[in-house]
Amino acid sequence: MGTSLTPIQQIGEFGLIEKIQKHFSNKLQKNTILGIGDDAAILERDEHNFTLISTDMLLEGIHFDLTYYPLKHLGYKAVVCNVSDIAAMNGIPEQITVSIALSSKFTVEAVEEIYEGIRLACENYKIDLIGGDTTTSRTGLVISVTAIGKVSKQKVVKRSGAKPNDIICVTGDLGGSYTGLLVLQREKVTFKANPETQPQLDNYDYVVKRHLKPEARTDVIHEFADLDLVPTAMIDISDGLASELLHISKNSKCGVIIFEDKLPIDPQTATVINDEFHISPTTAVLNGGEDYELLFTIRQQDYDKIKNHPDVTPIGYVTDSLQERKLILRAGTTAEIKAQGWTHF
Ligand code: ADP
Ligand code: MG
Repeated sequence: MGTSLTPIQQIGEFGLIEKIQKHFSNKLQKNTILGIGDDAAILERDEHNFTLISTDMLLEGIHFDLTYYPLKHLGYKAVVCNVSDIAAMNGIPEQITVSIALSSKFTVEAVEEIYEGIRLACENYKIDLIGGDTTTSRTGLVISVTAIGKVSKQKVVKRSGAKPNDIICVTGDLGGSYTGLLVLQREKVTFKANPETQPQLDNYDYVVKRHLKPEARTDVIHEFADLDLVPTAMIDISDGLASELLHISKNSKCGVIIFEDKLPIDPQTATVINDEFHISPTTAVLNGGEDYELLFTIRQQDYDKIKNHPDVTPIGYVTDSLQERKLILRAGTTAEIKAQGWTHF
């Protein structure tokens, strides 16, 4: 063997994307403002606005398991994860395209269920479904959604704008979706062992909902506009807080310091993950994925605008040292923030 080939695991998902990015300068069209590397691409639109474009693909067996993921919810979620990426640029979604690949096990009714979820999401987020593609797959279901949105040029927010001393904030609470996933996986194992049993989900309503019916925080984007607040940097939390903090740190060339005792976690999430799965709630917050909340940074002088917001939590601040990515633990000791988010490879 002369040349040696590289397994994808060696460079990981982000390494692979960076490799692809290097080959495309995006200098061929002058309306391409920002290409690969943020939550959505930015295109010139008119004098005052940019167009935003984001795409995401969900695969059966990798991103969802149909034994516990209802088809309607799946359609809804496929839209939500793209809407969330548009929101992460401080934008509002307007249209989507949806492409699906179906294996022979799916019926017309099943496809209608998926599209009922898609329709609900379109209604909730005021989006038009304008096209897509339909094809067959050998195994399982694939849904790929592309969202198109709009943002005022003055208000577009990238991952790269954080400055030293900015305050780091998150919306909502974190770790719930991951905890819900663990509960659903556990129920699946129990059900397989004894198909007579009914899933016991009564005490898990919040975490299961966080997993099966996530929402994108377009509500917060509208509130930012009302408050006349433009974050300095923003990203949506799809791979876990730790991974997203590292993206902000890397793209903004700044350090980040966050405090364990400030991390927002719902009581049900904390109890279930700790008592039943013996995972520390902080680990679930840092490394659990798919909460679709927003992580953003603001200037100190804007703090008053959000300080009484019930759904926004300041968790730390930005520093001028790129290497500094720290979590201050309750005990007062310090831990390094490391990404252990979803790596499918
Ligand atoms: P997110 O988690 O916000 O959806 P990703 O981590 O999936 O973001 O993608 C990061 C960036 O890399 C985005 O700009 C995305 O468009 C780009 N990207 C991901 N995969 C590819 C690919 N196969 N080819 C080109 N660009 C890609
Ligand atoms: Mg994103």
